[in-house]
Amino acid sequence: MASDSLLEKYSRQMLFAGMGPDGQRRLLGSRATIVGCGAIGAAAANLLVRAGVGSVNIIDRDFVEPSNLQRQTLFDESDARNALPKAVAAEHKLRSINSGVEVRGVVADLGPKNAVELLSGCDLILDGTDNFETRFLINDFAVESGRVWIYAAAVASYGLTLTIRPGVTPCLACLLESGNSSQALEETCDTIGVLGPIVNLVASWQVAEALKILAGRPEALHGRLLSGDVWTGRMQAIRLARNPECRACAKHDYSYLQGEAQPHITLCGRDSVQIHERSRALDLPALASRLAPLVEDVRQIRNDGFFGRPRHPEGHQGPCRGALPLCPLSGRVIRFAQGIPGSARMPGTAERTPHAGAIQVFAKVHEREKGA
Ligand SMILES: [Zn+2]
Repeated sequence: MASDSLLEKYSRQMLFAGMGPDGQRRLLGSRATIVGCGAIGAAAANLLVRAGVGSVNIIDRDFVEPSNLQRQTLFDESDARNALPKAVAAEHKLRSINSGVEVRGVVADLGPKNAVELLSGCDLILDGTDNFETRFLINDFAVESGRVWIYAAAVASYGLTLTIRPGVTPCLACLLESGNSSQALEETCDTIGVLGPIVNLVASWQVAEALKILAGRPEALHGRLLSGDVWTGRMQAIRLARNPECRACAKHDYSYLQGEAQPHITLCGRDSVQIHERSRALDLPALASRLAPLVEDVRQIRNDGFFGRPRHPEGHQGPCRGALPLCPLSGRVIRFAQGIPGSARMPGTAERTPHAGAIQVFAKVHEREKGA
């Protein structure tokens, strides 16, 4: 172990028998990537950085909003006021917490095109996402490359986590594609809410597993699907079997990684819609001008996407509520069918309309415009 200050900083963690100086040394040399920096991702990042994991990458495409602050513990009111990208705000905060850790915030939307680039080069992936499309993509990448990843999810007062070791444990496809899919797929934090304590509990379980892996203590992994409800106090630990017919870990069909399983439109539960484009090149300046009536401050973040900030109606004061996702090709509003998130589609457009590239538009509009 290097200096006295390191000995001091991690002294209580090293005193823990399961970690010790050897485990701490391994942690300091390890690299973790967190996909999604919402409530679970932010809590996990905080714990990993404080524990002294050598390098922590955080991938997120969202901006901090006031409604995040109730549970997303890395962010504060000024981050929300400035609508900072979560990856940027998280990097800034985490560097001030532990300058010895190499923290990198990546403002990006993880997809089939960039998954290998963004996820390679780490020892472990932690799930902080809010949708199953991205989770299956991570699962495909992890299974194919033999990397460990830790699934975690929470909604309302309920949450669960599973450590996935390719070839050793069941993978996410074993769990969710075997016909007994979870009802949790249907509900999001935006439809039935979420409590701060459950996301922090799930992130704590997740990071404890991460520490075992990164400190070289795989024998300490519990090997179960852990679930709990902080409202009822019920907890469960279930041992699961691999599915011998599993698409991913048995048949090596990585359709999410190859982009074949990706739907054209995904509602991701954060006032945003992803429109996945496959076959056409995009004229971004033209798109920006189409969006101009409703979206201001259009910024290109990567060459395959851009973000828009809301254009408020004339004379509008007060908080901006509600959201209308926009189709980047037509600039038209994508309506929520019967107001139910998860059923968004483009009006007047066949669902199978081919698009090219991957675009995200975040457009918030004033409540008054919501029914427009
Ligand atoms: Zn599997």
